[in-house]
Amino acid sequence: MAAWEKNVRRVIPYTPGEQPVRSDIIKLNTNENPYPPSPEALKVLQNMEGQILRKYPDPAAEELIQELAGYYRVNPQQVFVGVGSDDVLAMSFLTFFNGKKPILFPDITYSFYDVWADLFRIPYERQPLNDKFEICTEDYKKDCGGIVIPNPNAPTGVEKDLSELEEIIAANQDVIVIIDEAYIDFGGESAIKLLSEYDNLLVVQTFSKSRSLAGMRIGYAFGNEKLIKYLNDAKYSFNSYTMNTVTVAMGAASVRDEAYFRETIDKIIFTREWTKKELARLGFVFPDSSSNFIFASHSKCPAVKIFEALKSQGIYVRYFDKPRIDNYLRITIGTDQEMKILIEFLKQYLGENV
Ligand code: PMP
Repeated sequence: MAAWEKNVRRVIPYTPGEQPVRSDIIKLNTNENPYPPSPEALKVLQNMEGQILRKYPDPAAEELIQELAGYYRVNPQQVFVGVGSDDVLAMSFLTFFNGKKPILFPDITYSFYDVWADLFRIPYERQPLNDKFEICTEDYKKDCGGIVIPNPNAPTGVEKDLSELEEIIAANQDVIVIIDEAYIDFGGESAIKLLSEYDNLLVVQTFSKSRSLAGMRIGYAFGNEKLIKYLNDAKYSFNSYTMNTVTVAMGAASVRDEAYFRETIDKIIFTREWTKKELARLGFVFPDSSSNFIFASHSKCPAVKIFEALKSQGIYVRYFDKPRIDNYLRITIGTDQEMKILIEFLKQYLGENV
């Protein structure tokens, strides 16, 4: 070991899902939206002028902030934006979790939380989900340094009742509670409506799933004005220009196109419900999902085998080789056509292998 290595901040990074270069695969492994972004957002991209890009972007991303504030009926001072919700969440961990007590999050959850906690030296304690993969409210009613809960949870897709989340937020008013709503638009009930009552609540959402803009990297958070000011102070102490000009304009255009948003969401929900029925018919079990993915296990065929068989056919789903979930596949909802191909292959494969 070189002497200078003693001073290195060592971290084990998060591993994102595979992004294969081949374009002929059915990609159901990273919860992307199978439909393109709003045509209005794409128009903005096509019409972007070089003269605009010559200049630095608006550090406050005002156009996007205004659009989000209007759409969600909050004050613009209650909105924070970042480079995907990963950036927003990381910034929130850095800003709000500076106590000595551990922060709490589920044992089975988005696997970036412990990575950020390790990066920022935040102590944490994982709270076990029950056998139905549900978050147990009582586990979060104890002295702690903060809480982060995704709703619906990932990779399970399980939604927690807003009334139970409210109990957790109410029981922890001395610390910040982050509700990560990356998948809320696919049928869940948002905690945004609790913002006026709890000044310790931060609600984080993203354009990556329901708005088909994962490639643009847009995330945002709502909280009370003081909380958002603290977040902005941290952001401006790190990088003033997190949001680029194209992203800000495309994001705003996407929010304005409500009809397209509803249309694609409805299609995904419809396809998800169809896929649930077909998977159940094939002998899969899964907790009910309110998201754009299904977390499924087969009683007679190991998940890893199905994962490999699917991959060999160019169908990518996500497999986590981790305790408690190593017999599950997380299957993103694609187009109708993609899901039909998946189901047809599974029918044939399970017919021959179980
Ligand atoms: N939260 C959860 C629960 C997620 O699954 C993801 C997607 N990987 C994110 C946040 C981050 O998404 P993005 O940075 O693309 O907004």
